[in-house]
Amino acid sequence: MNNIERAIEYFYRQMESGNITNDNQQKHYEIAIDALEKQILKKPKCNNDEWYCPSCNEFIRDNECMCDAPENDKYCTGCGSKARLELID
Ligand SMILES: [Zn+2]
Repeated sequence: MNNIERAIEYFYRQMESGNITNDNQQKHYEIAIDALEKQILKKPKCNNDEWYCPSCNEFIRDNECMCDAPENDKYCTGCGSKARLELID
């Protein structure tokens, strides 16, 4: 488990243990978890030689090698998730 996953777990634990006292606090916890989850490297899904976001299925890139993808192409424009070629096997 890396630091990001640990932070996500911390926020979940706080919510589960009833430490959230109002809706505003709840909302900020959810935003934090959502933002952290997008930082976790996810393996893009491949379908017909095209790469798709593992979170929202948005098209990311065609069959060109993801290795030399510009930094922008490593992020889903649909949901902002980070999709990294390093995780393609
Ligand atoms: Zn996405």
